[in-house]
Amino acid sequence: MIIDIHSHTPNFFMDVDEDITDTGSVNQSMRPDGGGIKFKFSEIEHRKGTKEADKVVVFNMYIGKNPNDATADYVKTDPERIIGFMGLNPKLPHMLDELDRSFYDLGLKGIKLGPIYQDFHPLDKRAYPIYARAEQLGLPILFHQGATFPRKAPLRYANPILLEEIAHDFPNLKIIIAHVGNPWCDETNVLIRKQPNVYADISGLFYRPWQFYQALSLCHEYGCMDKLLFGSDYPIATTEETITGLRNINKVIEGTNLPKIPEDEIEKIIYRDSLSLLGLK
Ligand SMILES: [Zn+2]
Repeated sequence: MIIDIHSHTPNFFMDVDEDITDTGSVNQSMRPDGGGIKFKFSEIEHRKGTKEADKVVVFNMYIGKNPNDATADYVKTDPERIIGFMGLNPKLPHMLDELDRSFYDLGLKGIKLGPIYQDFHPLDKRAYPIYARAEQLGLPILFHQGATFPRKAPLRYANPILLEEIAHDFPNLKIIIAHVGNPWCDETNVLIRKQPNVYADISGLFYRPWQFYQALSLCHEYGCMDKLLFGSDYPIATTEETITGLRNINKVIEGTNLPKIPEDEIEKIIYRDSLSLLGLK
């Protein structure tokens, strides 16, 4: 069974303010084919783009608009296959009510947070009640900790190491660091190796082959490959492109003496039962 742990809710376009969309002079081409980011996509496109996955997790961040009803509506189209996570904004006052509504009424089963996009420090005390309730209800939290392009997104909130205290304070909370914390993949590996409740997803990374190889190579050397979860970050990449990217990971070192990442470890990532690891089964 293939479980895609990271994809975005179709038909929901984030209502971001101008500050966060100002990308300055950064080239936004992150698609494997060199094209621009496709932020607008339909349910049909999402199904097609993730069709290799037997189960797929969908979510969007709570920036401006509340994404949770759109996510729940999409889950309803195929509840056997689609698992919805909620977006929450710790800076808004009613977020515990929204967490409860999204869990009890909408049936959403995890949380997506993006401190750099949402402009909060991961250790902000306003976020702590969310962590506590998530731990109590068994909701994993997927954090976007890592690089981004909007000029105003505060990088001081971006390093994955910032999550360590949360992992300590909430030992039963499952934490996932998206994209292996790119470009702080070493920091992510240090963290997932020593904190039992912290995982990383490998989404959105294979099209930077050297960085992808180094991230997984260190993870393999640390012996923590079992903490890596499969995800595509659709619409950034499809599930199929991500599987192919994983299987091609050693191409970048062909003709060198650098150590190969064992193929069986790569296959284990592709077929990992992430839902069981995260307590969602
Ligand atoms: Zn994403």
